[in-house]
Amino acid sequence: METFDYLIVGGGIFGCYAATWLAEQGARILLIEKENDLFLKASTVNQARIHSGYHYPRSIATARLSEEYKARFIKDHRSFINDSFQHFYAIDKFGSMTDAAQFERFCKHLEVPCRAIEVPRYMKKERIERLYETQEFSFDPIRIGGFYKRKLEELPNVTVLTNCQPKQAFRESGNFIVELEIAEKQHFTKIKSANVINATYSATNGILDLFAFRQIELTHEIAEMTFVKSPKKQLPALTVMDGSFCSLMPYGLSEFYSLSSVAYTPHEVSKTNQPKFNCQQINTKCRPEAPSDCNQCAARPMTNFSKMEKQIRRYLDESVELEYAHSKFTIKSKLKSSHIDDSRPTEVLQLSKNPSFYCIFAGKINSIYHIEQILSPKSIMI
Ligand SMILES: Cc1cc2nc3c(=O)[nH]c(=O)nc-3n(C[C@H](O)[C@H](O)[C@H](O)COP(=O)(O)OP(=O)(O)OC[C@H]3O[C@@H](n4cnc5c(N)ncnc54)[C@H](O)[C@@H]3O)c2cc1C
Repeated sequence: METFDYLIVGGGIFGCYAATWLAEQGARILLIEKENDLFLKASTVNQARIHSGYHYPRSIATARLSEEYKARFIKDHRSFINDSFQHFYAIDKFGSMTDAAQFERFCKHLEVPCRAIEVPRYMKKERIERLYETQEFSFDPIRIGGFYKRKLEELPNVTVLTNCQPKQAFRESGNFIVELEIAEKQHFTKIKSANVINATYSATNGILDLFAFRQIELTHEIAEMTFVKSPKKQLPALTVMDGSFCSLMPYGLSEFYSLSSVAYTPHEVSKTNQPKFNCQQINTKCRPEAPSDCNQCAARPMTNFSKMEKQIRRYLDESVELEYAHSKFTIKSKLKSSHIDDSRPTEVLQLSKNPSFYCIFAGKINSIYHIEQILSPKSIMI
């Protein structure tokens, strides 16, 4: 039976960052990923926004958390950051949960740049209470995925197994003994590890169940990011606040913009701790305890692009051309408590010692560094 210092379950950005950080300190790591590649889910299918806090006028804690790690995230991923576009935040005249005066006070309190400007001619003045020029960048999820994959390959003390998931786990003299199923080779193997990290995001509770820990209170939704191009001119980013609104953001350094909407990005919501959706009756391989990749699934929903386009057209006139390119789907998961203030904290919990079990539930991508506070060098038992 092979022995590792850490078994990390989940090959999104949080699992990959934890693997590289721990391996650089000498730990022997096994990183397992259920799908046939790393970075196929939330870490790639997202708005690619490096949050600077603007988005969370109702949760100062989330706004501050974004700001806390932003500079380091940008420094560590410099070549994958797009900082050369104008970014506008607009307050809708109707139905916004935060008005212009509140937004200005909030930005001042947070000390983030926010300058009220004239609404340009290609935007619809009648819908916008006030428009702000802000400073918020976009990261390139595809290039960042490539960066972590290369980094992991170069680290001799990291083994990565794709098409692999844990099937059984028990404790024995300060270790977890974990049975792994490797789908590709259709075989099972057992490994031993003194530490396990659960970094599976939408499958968090499936893994907690398997290791006999209490589930955390989550909700889930099937989320669609639509991607558009604008053939003639470079678009600014536009985020309309605050509540059930929409956003147009450059997708990193690519030619695409993501178009998303609080109303139409979610297709189906699951209020159970594990993601349970109607489409799982068609695709029975996708189970609540181990959901599959929606992009490889024939039962995924039809696009909501036309509804999202109609919504953004309340603010942008027809001179701004938007050409639909494609959509990507994934499961978005949130803490049930986020419902009240729209917060997105990143939780890193140590649930047992000797053997140690850690659970990461990710809020924002630039909070990958949060694990370092819990897995301090003292707790890294190598
Ligand atoms: C639609 C959407 C928009 C978002 N926009 C932004 C944004 O603009 N900015 C921002 O900072 N954040 C954003 N987020 C949040 C951010 O994307 C997530 O917090 C982050 O990507 C989570 O990373 P992760 O590594 O925990 O999860 P994931 O990237 O989902 O990785 C988890 C991995 O675990 C694997 N896994 C699951 N079950 C098992 C198993 N049983 N065995 C082995 N492996 C398993 C999965 O296949 C997956 O690869 C957005 C999220 C969504 C969904």
